[in-house]
Parts: sequence; C-alpha cells; structure tokens
Amino acid sequence: MQKDSVNIILLGAPGSGKGTQGQYLQDTLKIPRISTGDLLREEVKKGSEIGRKVSETLGSGKFVSDDIIISLLRETLQGSEFNKGFILDGFPRNLAQATLLDELLLKINHKMDLVLELQVSEEGLEKRISHRYFCTKCGYSYNSLTNKPKVEGVCDICGNTSFKIRDDDKIEVLRHRLEEYAKQTLPLVQYYTEKGILHNVNCDRDIKEISSDIDLIIKKVLTC
Ligand code: AMP
Repeated sequence: MQKDSVNIILLGAPGSGKGTQGQYLQDTLKIPRISTGDLLREEVKKGSEIGRKVSETLGSGKFVSDDIIISLLRETLQGSEFNKGFILDGFPRNLAQATLLDELLLKINHKMDLVLELQVSEEGLEKRISHRYFCTKCGYSYNSLTNKPKVEGVCDICGNTSFKIRDDDKIEVLRHRLEEYAKQTLPLVQYYTEKGILHNVNCDRDIKEISSDIDLIIKKVLTC
C-alpha cells in the first residue's frame, strides 16, 4: 500500500547536512521543512520578544529552552500545509523534546514515520562547517569545498548575491555544539531505534550519493 503522507525527522550533528538534505526532500516530496534553528533566527531578525530572549543563546551554541521551542513548533504545525507531511530539521534535540513531540502529534492526529540519522565523522563535520556559508535572504546553505552555487556568487534558490557565515559556526562554538549533540541529542538514536523508525545514512560521501540513499529509504517507508 502507498502512504499519502510522510513525517520525517532529520537527526544529525551540526554540519551533517540536515539543511541540504532537508531542502532536497522538501523539493522532491513537496512537503514543508521546519527548521527550529531557522524559526529562531527569524524571531531574532524580527526583533520579537522570543528573538530578544534567544539571541545570545543562539550565538553561543547552547540549546534554547524546551518551552520556547515547543511553543514555536506548536504554532507552526497548526497550518494545513502540513497535512501531507513535514520534515523536522533540528528538532527534537533531547529526550524531553521527543516526548513533547509525541504528545503534540497525538493531539493533531499525526505520527512520526521515519527518522533519518545523518552520520558524519568528526573530522568531516569540522571540514564542512569551516567552509559553510549561507544566503542572507533565504538562508540556503552552501559549502566552498563541496556545494557551491551553480553560478558563482548567486544563490540557486532565490537569486540573492550576498552571503554570510554563521556566528555559531566558529570553531570554538562548534566544539561546544558537538559536545551538546553527543550529550543531549544522541540518546534519541536509541529512542527512535526502539520505535523501529530509525534509519542510518552514511554522510561521509558526495551529496548526490547521500540523496539517492535517502530516496531508497523513503521509497521503502512509503510503500510499506
Ligand atoms: P541549527 O540551525 O539547527 O543548528 O540551530 C541553531 C541554534 O538554534 C542551536 O545551536 C540552538 O541554540 C538553537 N536550537 C535550534 N533548534 C533547537 C532545539 N530543538 N532545541 C534547543 N535549541 C535549538
């Protein structure tokens, strides 16, 4: 039987490619991607109350409180555009958030179908992050070694011509983010393995090879 909606979590350390593969899935499956990091950066840009509360935390690589994240997500998931499924990027990031997500999904009649764990070696992560930059307009992520825009200096997605490096991609902050990931987020691998929905993806490879592995996994999940 073919499923007509799919809900996906992208799990992976900073720099593992959640943004890139999330964008790929959004384009191929035509379902929205929700990045909690993007939602928070948007609040900071708007200068909202939440934005003012989280701006320092964002630059430091520490986690924002579960309450703030859950309320942002609850509000976002209200939209009817999520009926055909969605991709969560950067959420949940700890066991408390995973439990709150289960409760939230139950209330809105959804369930998680698939968790993709994007695995990259530590060496690979540092290499990726130290060459990473973003479009200032749409936030799409590029890498000066492995993933440049098709036309140099022009964003593939929105045509903008200015780019920036994120404050929390500096090497000292990155080390802290990797520690937080290992301590708080990695326990989710066991959580979702026990639910039988976790799939590993070896991401120490070319972007296209990773995407085609993901395609195969999605095909299996959609047809079972
Ligand atoms: P990201 O763009 O996913 O790397 O997130 C950037 C920053 O936003 C993180 O370093 C955290 O400070 C914050 N953040 C994003 N998602 C979460 C989350 N689910 N829980 C706590 N903090 C988060």
